[in-house]
Amino acid sequence: MWAMIRGVPHGLVYVRLWREADRPLIFGGKKMRTGSKNPLSDCTLCPRECHVDRLAGQRGYCGQTAQIVAARAALHYWEEPCISGRAGSGAVFFCGCPLRCSFCQNRDIAAGRAGREVGTERLAEIFLHLQQQGANNINLVTATHFVPLLVPALEAAKDRGLRIPVVYNTSSYEKVSTLRMLDGLVDIYLPDLKYVSSALSGLLSNAPDYFETAQEALAEMVRQTGKPLFLSPEGKRLDAEQMNEACCGEEGDLADADFLMQKGVIVRHLALPGQREDSRRVLRYLHRTYGNRIYISLMNQYTPMPGAALKLPELGRKLTQEEYEALTGYAIALGVENGFLQEGDTVGESFIPDFDGTGL
Ligand code: SF4
Repeated sequence: MWAMIRGVPHGLVYVRLWREADRPLIFGGKKMRTGSKNPLSDCTLCPRECHVDRLAGQRGYCGQTAQIVAARAALHYWEEPCISGRAGSGAVFFCGCPLRCSFCQNRDIAAGRAGREVGTERLAEIFLHLQQQGANNINLVTATHFVPLLVPALEAAKDRGLRIPVVYNTSSYEKVSTLRMLDGLVDIYLPDLKYVSSALSGLLSNAPDYFETAQEALAEMVRQTGKPLFLSPEGKRLDAEQMNEACCGEEGDLADADFLMQKGVIVRHLALPGQREDSRRVLRYLHRTYGNRIYISLMNQYTPMPGAALKLPELGRKLTQEEYEALTGYAIALGVENGFLQEGDTVGESFIPDFDGTGL
């Protein structure tokens, strides 16, 4: 279950419970914004910079060619409440991953062991179908390596009536140049900030440059979206402060899930067992850099996966309640006002849906 960190008048802070060869990509008669040379022919889309020809079927670190592969497209109810709302988020889970963390809970799709091919036109239809199903947004999960293919799908879907916000859900191991292809197409970024320590990111994600890369990526995301903006049940546009007042005031018996994010950035941090100091560094960085211009989502759902302890012994266990409470207390003491917490034993909860090709 999610809870929220909110600032209230008087400066007090509290937690409130609630419930293809080198040719331009053409689609729909339009030349793509990805440039004249197809970026997949010499792929440097992400910081791995593999320089493989994905159009010729070569695979780099992410494990994917120039064909979109996804594992599921369906309503999803386990994101932060302003993303899932009551009707659910229209989540599309893509296969392959440029980061490949050793503790990944979605390793079957990250490693490309599941999923089916989806053409660009079909992907646009999927977005529109999710909207027809009542989705509050289109939620693109781990799509970095498919961005040049996503762009025409999003443009086509918008041309045909896609009106709900588009969410880009990412590890933050992203190049600014790739994110810029999405400028004006993505409304909400849902990035992770996993580590500050390069030793930790090198050990667990084979990415010693993770933090410096993510820093630049986050700055670009915030630049694109601006401050958080929400839609009230009455259809009013509210900033974060107005939303907090509407939820927490005397008439504020509306649930947080009634206020849907329309624009903004929510940075997620999954607290890892035994890594308190690095988690603190993540929180300090985010709060000092962005203050209340972003939301911070502090997650306690780390689940030990087979073999995770081989890299770091503490990863063989769950996060303790004491560790999580110490971290949430630290966030509140820092002055974080716009944030989300998780409550209860989320390790056993099914945040991971069946990757069985539903909706594709
Ligand atoms: S997107 Fe894939 S192939 Fe391209 S640089 Fe990244 S990991 Fe390598």
